[in-house]
Amino acid sequence: MNAHAVTCIPGDGIGPEIMSAARAAIAATGVAIAWDDVEAGAAAVEKSGTPLPQAVLTSVRRTKVALKGPVTTPIGSGFRSVNVALRQELDLYANLRPAASIPGVPSRYEGVDLVVVRENTEDLYAGVERSLGPDAAESIKIITRKGSDRIARFAFTYARREGRRKVTAVHKANIMKLTDGLFLEVARKVAQEFPEIAFEERIVDNMCMQLVQKPELYDVLLCPNLYGDILSDLCAGLVGGLGVVPGANLGETVAVFEPVHGSAPKYAGLDKADPTALILSSVLMLAHLGEHEAARNLFAAVRSVIATGKNVTYDLGGTAGTRQMGQAIADEADRLRG
Ligand code: NAD
Repeated sequence: MNAHAVTCIPGDGIGPEIMSAARAAIAATGVAIAWDDVEAGAAAVEKSGTPLPQAVLTSVRRTKVALKGPVTTPIGSGFRSVNVALRQELDLYANLRPAASIPGVPSRYEGVDLVVVRENTEDLYAGVERSLGPDAAESIKIITRKGSDRIARFAFTYARREGRRKVTAVHKANIMKLTDGLFLEVARKVAQEFPEIAFEERIVDNMCMQLVQKPELYDVLLCPNLYGDILSDLCAGLVGGLGVVPGANLGETVAVFEPVHGSAPKYAGLDKADPTALILSSVLMLAHLGEHEAARNLFAAVRSVIATGKNVTYDLGGTAGTRQMGQAIADEADRLRG
């Protein structure tokens, strides 16, 4: 069996710990991976003076697939976000963030099954900001027809392929008539090409309230970059928190799989963080690599360990550490492989 070449970016904060748990779990599925280990974030700054060395981009361009841990972005001064730079450099225009209830995860809700599709390269994340002197600054929101069209197409194609029933475009076109107005206009047009998928529109503030009150009414949420970022954390909150929500950044040819959560610096090095989100991101990665049986087994292993409730981290009501939970998932994946 040929090994799949995959770039591994452990990241910083809790990244390295959850990455070793995820790597052990992936190994237990029996899928052969030739890992190309590269560093981004704090560790890279210490060694090469930049948080995103060229070697990272070269590796991902070669392997076409990466598994990535979170990377800290300093607030205010300091380097630009590695995550945003990576998504822009590799044109990873679609950010897919499924948030589904997992039996056994403590949560106020049951049966939530949402997918946030977030445009990943434009909007206020384009990084066009400037100071207007000591007392003012401005940031430019960029929305293009091309960017809106490809993310809308991505959302509807995903919905069709996965048998989902509805796409809801999230916007604030009542206020941002030109930018969000264009996003919405394009979404409406693309929707007409997918008549079997229901299409709805929601203003982002109303969307937040609706998701908290009746998440079961929604399915795939099609969002510009910033609303998608915020709503995906909200959706994580509906299914038990950031510790359990995976993600994928997808372009035409390259895919980077990473959890929704950040580097949780307060837990770094404490063997405390939940490895589930990165392991579920690995499930998405295995499916992307065509390893569907391994993906199913690893998903089942995660669910089984969480349902049993013995080897789970603090956020899931347990006392296990990252390593113990990762090992339990690896053992279960190994057992399911038979
Ligand atoms: P965060 O996601 O790191 O943490 C938010 C909360 O969730 C904290 O209470 C944290 O302890 C908890 N949490 C997060 N992941 C967890 C896990 N696996 N297990 C258990 N609890 C978990 O968000 P933040 O504190 O706003 O950001 C910290 C840093 O991460 C910032 O520098 C931010 O820019 C960066 N960040 C990076 C990414 C990424 O690399 N893709 C994404 C979001 C934030």
